[in-house]
Amino acid sequence: MNVIAAQLQAVRARIDAACLSAGREPSGVTLLAVSKTFGPEAVRAARAAGQAAFGENYIQEAVDKMAALQDPSLQWHCIGPVQSNKTRLVAEHFQWVQTVDRLKIAQRLSEQRPAHLPPLQVCVQVNVDGGSTKSGVAPEALLALAQAVAALPRLQLRGLMCIPDPQPDFEAMKSVFLRARALHDGLRAAGLPLDTLSMGMSADLEAAIHAGSTLVRVGSAIFGSRDPRPR
Ligand SMILES: *Cc1c(COP(=O)(O)O)cnc(C)c1O
Repeated sequence: MNVIAAQLQAVRARIDAACLSAGREPSGVTLLAVSKTFGPEAVRAARAAGQAAFGENYIQEAVDKMAALQDPSLQWHCIGPVQSNKTRLVAEHFQWVQTVDRLKIAQRLSEQRPAHLPPLQVCVQVNVDGGSTKSGVAPEALLALAQAVAALPRLQLRGLMCIPDPQPDFEAMKSVFLRARALHDGLRAAGLPLDTLSMGMSADLEAAIHAGSTLVRVGSAIFGSRDPRPR
């Protein structure tokens, strides 16, 4: 077995173990393989090992990779910042975008989503910890943004995504993730039919699963460490 297949299997085992200890069904957690900075051959190896959903941060890099792969069985999620001048590429090439945090970007994505494609699947990114990274809508502004996004014709609002800063231990990490869970539950209580809570990465997926994550975004634990090359 190649390295990527073995590491994928190890990550799936971590997800299963976290679900077991949290009293959840493993089928309730989707694994998104974050292939940013890795080439088409890495995606191909993961696909051969059963992985279909891939996350990319850099839009042009992702579109080039899609063109090289030409594989309609792949599902692509945009998980990086989307500037106005990149919305068309996202609307035309991705199935999901998880990083919507401004209405203007959502409106452009909806207008530019080609008519022959299904609606673009969307998560609103929320800044749960006011931390240093700091994309994401503030929790106070979330409900209004989510309602406006849900009303756009060519988008389907699926849920929330967050990238909180690392915390010193499991319980601290879990409690930050639980804030996102509470916001997600609040939107559902307000009538939005959400089914996706995207949180957890290589270092913290267990805490995220204990807090209710339905989609973990894992890069380095599958593909290895990334070159810190300048972009
Ligand atoms: C890079 C990235 C990931 C994956 O991070 P790892 O620590 O490599 O698992 C997940 N989500 C987002 C938004 C990222 O940018």
